[in-house]
Amino acid sequence: MIKLISTGGDTTTVSFPEAMWQGQAPDGGLYVPQSIPALPESWWSGVADRTFHEIGAGIATPWLAPHLNEQEVRTLVEEALPFDAPLVDVEGTTSVLELFHGPTLAFKDFGAQFMAKLFGRLGAEDDRELLILVATSGDTGSAVASGFHGVPGTRVCLLYPSGRVSPLQEKQMTTLGGNVTALEVDGAFDDCQRLVKEAFRDRELNETFRLSSANSINIARLLPQSFYYVRAVAQLQERGERAEPVFVVPSGNFGNLTAGLLANRMGMPAHRFVAATNRNDVFPNYLETGRFNPKPSVQTLSNAMDVGNPSNFERIMYLFGGSLERVREQILAIGFDDHQTTEEIRRAHEEYGYLADPHTAVGLLAARSIREQSLADPSRPLVVLSTAHPAKFRETVEAATGAEVEIPERLAQCLSKEKQTIAAGSRYSDFRNLLNELF
Ligand SMILES: *Cc1c(COP(=O)(O)O)cnc(C)c1O
Repeated sequence: MIKLISTGGDTTTVSFPEAMWQGQAPDGGLYVPQSIPALPESWWSGVADRTFHEIGAGIATPWLAPHLNEQEVRTLVEEALPFDAPLVDVEGTTSVLELFHGPTLAFKDFGAQFMAKLFGRLGAEDDRELLILVATSGDTGSAVASGFHGVPGTRVCLLYPSGRVSPLQEKQMTTLGGNVTALEVDGAFDDCQRLVKEAFRDRELNETFRLSSANSINIARLLPQSFYYVRAVAQLQERGERAEPVFVVPSGNFGNLTAGLLANRMGMPAHRFVAATNRNDVFPNYLETGRFNPKPSVQTLSNAMDVGNPSNFERIMYLFGGSLERVREQILAIGFDDHQTTEEIRRAHEEYGYLADPHTAVGLLAARSIREQSLADPSRPLVVLSTAHPAKFRETVEAATGAEVEIPERLAQCLSKEKQTIAAGSRYSDFRNLLNELF
């Protein structure tokens, strides 16, 4: 059975379900596996013939045993992730791994859908309903809400800053109904986050409710994100491409990249990882200078990567035994500004006929600079992770390309519904009263 420990230094180990229920370790660190279960050579050599669901079951089973058996994991993967991650050629040996075919059109669907089903499947440790509090600036809220929507024994309360999410993101969060409640907070994202953090520290509230954060630091969200890296390798091999790929990952909190590292430690062939960031370039600076200097985030077009203190940095350091040299051997990092991003959206459309959202464009920029600076052998496959559908950032993409971006049916549906929200102030005492009234 896999055991997890905290990056915070506490040596107590917990099981996977315990780490999932808690989210963050009591010492404030993040849960990481004490040792990573590698899959046998024979599993990897047959990977090209496996479907996405078979890959998911193969990867997740050693993490979830003995709580679930392989067949149960397989069923869970099928139910949670009824969509694929297709690899699309763009130019030469560069391809894009499209991670936006889930219900909310962003890669966060993989983590959120899987985690939600796992919460439902592994049952409650007591019989109180689980109340999931999520502060969101847009993408996380819709992915988590969609994942937990209709999951028995759970309720979701989203807090988002009024007037500061895109109209489309707002519709995605506020039209689900059922067990999902959206609070429109009169304040900024930081206010939403502060309210949620205070609620977790509030003893009395925690006696009334069984609270969970289900946020991006949860290990149960990382695990399913390793599936699609393996799926990319399988698709390369199907095409007869055997060389180890370079994975380019548009990064903010570095959960996505960490999931790739986990897949690699489980035996997945990968030559290197490239962290592509926007102007929030704390990680590229770290690799360059050896100093990790978190700073306040700055706003950019690729706003889901506007992170000034990447939470998964601790996990990355743990995986490399704290050695900067070892991190540098495996990970390259490059940052780009908004001007370059807009220009890349235009070029990708013009040169490859590909419509990229601003986050994917940051990844394509990194791939371009690797080619131009010969940082990888020209024959080596470069896989750029595409983290969002261009329709999610339609205005930016249309302005940069002059092309029209089609809105997928599943998004169009929620656009025609009325938003349902509850107005909330940014004072904690009011928030607390509201929770007691509502739930
Ligand atoms: C969350 C997000 C990212 C950043 O992912 P991390 O795991 O935080 O590095 C990139 N692109 C999009 C569209 C996102 O929603």
